[in-house]
Amino acid sequence: MTVAAPPYELVIGIETHVELKTESKMFCGCRARWFGAPPNTLVCPVCLGLPGALPVPNRRAIELAINAGLALHCTQPEHTKFDRKNYLYPDLPKGYQISQYDLPLNVKGWLELPSGKRVGITRAHLEEDTGTLKHGEDAGRKYTLVDFNRSGVPLLEIVSEPDMSSAEEGEQYVRALRDVLIYAGVSDVRLEEGAGRFDVNVSIRFSEDGKTAWPPQSEIKNLNSYQALRDAVAYESRRLWEDWQAGGELRTRSGKITVGWSPDRRRTYLQRTKEEVEDYRYFPEPDLVALAPDRTMVENLRASLPEMPADRRARFIEHLGLSDYDARNLLADPALAEFFEATIKLEPANPKAAANWVLGEISAALKRDGIALRDARITPEHVAELIRMVDAGRISITAAKAVFAQLWKDGGDPEAIVNTMGLAQVSDEAALAEVVDLVLKEDAKAVASYRAGNDRALGALVGAVMKRLGKKANPVVVNRILRQRIG
Ligand code: ZN
Ligand code: MN
Repeated sequence: MTVAAPPYELVIGIETHVELKTESKMFCGCRARWFGAPPNTLVCPVCLGLPGALPVPNRRAIELAINAGLALHCTQPEHTKFDRKNYLYPDLPKGYQISQYDLPLNVKGWLELPSGKRVGITRAHLEEDTGTLKHGEDAGRKYTLVDFNRSGVPLLEIVSEPDMSSAEEGEQYVRALRDVLIYAGVSDVRLEEGAGRFDVNVSIRFSEDGKTAWPPQSEIKNLNSYQALRDAVAYESRRLWEDWQAGGELRTRSGKITVGWSPDRRRTYLQRTKEEVEDYRYFPEPDLVALAPDRTMVENLRASLPEMPADRRARFIEHLGLSDYDARNLLADPALAEFFEATIKLEPANPKAAANWVLGEISAALKRDGIALRDARITPEHVAELIRMVDAGRISITAAKAVFAQLWKDGGDPEAIVNTMGLAQVSDEAALAEVVDLVLKEDAKAVASYRAGNDRALGALVGAVMKRLGKKANPVVVNRILRQRIG
């Protein structure tokens, strides 16, 4: 099926909020892992916004925020500060959020998508999360409860440039961003716990009467899954187009609107019509001093940053000779990638074989048994040993798979299993030749057929020899002896 391209160009930028992986909150000592805790048990005067309570910045949160910026190729200005973003909402006890306005911790970076395209990162700044509201109904009366456990949890807001031109590309961006943040140890990005949220700016551009029309954009707030992002962007861009075509309010409106996404009704709904940055009355946070991350600290963080997914993929392909497909599949699962790395450290000669084991037998067995790799009996030592034995011609690949099955089931020593199962490959020419002669005597018809020019008859003879010797015969040697005998 082919889908007609829409009659407009889509332009999207994404603001992502992720909770940082710290033990304590941004400005107090309360525990930051709030998810699942009984309501209002992880609170203190600071994160409840009680009068007179003073914030103390979390050093670890600042380091993690800089790590994220480094991983996203941002620069870290020498002078930054915290600002108050003022607004009133029941989940915000102070009546303002401590955020960063005009001097963020990280500016001007980029993130590479699997396609190779680079999406610009405008900024990545540090702020604090709000509490959460729970709406309910009791005997026909609606009520709302507030839980401040999440209040003050460190948040990183990452703002992209409007560099994406489809919902799919938007999804690739947030997936790649998630990978980078997890690799950098900055955040677990647990979307299902609300620890990662996306605001997507959607606009459409098209030509009309010889001029470029670029109607005001919509900002879709608080998307918390890839599916929601895909569906909401597709819906809202189409809605903008249809509204414009129908001569709707979009033609006369000047500023952007903010909408929410209802996954149940599969549509967006209007939240606010106009929201200018002035509405927040930003001003420097008077309870905190300006922040000047010193260069030594930034350079030390840079030096200790682990390899990022895009660099790792490049290394797998360029230095280890893996296919793009294998590299992608390994990267998709950090546990598989680690297992692969550990295996090639032990047996560096054949990375392709290591990738085959990890993406083949191991992945299949994990899926079949529904377990995680860390709970499996198989180790990188086992796999390195199997690769070594196959490459040395000691066992065939078929035999190695049988040894693997045994290791997967009970663990143990590959060498011992080869001996117990009698799988050592017979490469001894005299022993093989004996069996070859036997087969040639038994199947004169195949011999004649081969001599008459039917090459496939040789395969049948090899098969007959292999059958007699089980998985033990070395097919390369068998082939050679057969050709010598009848060629
Ligand atoms: Zn607190
Ligand atoms: Mn924010």
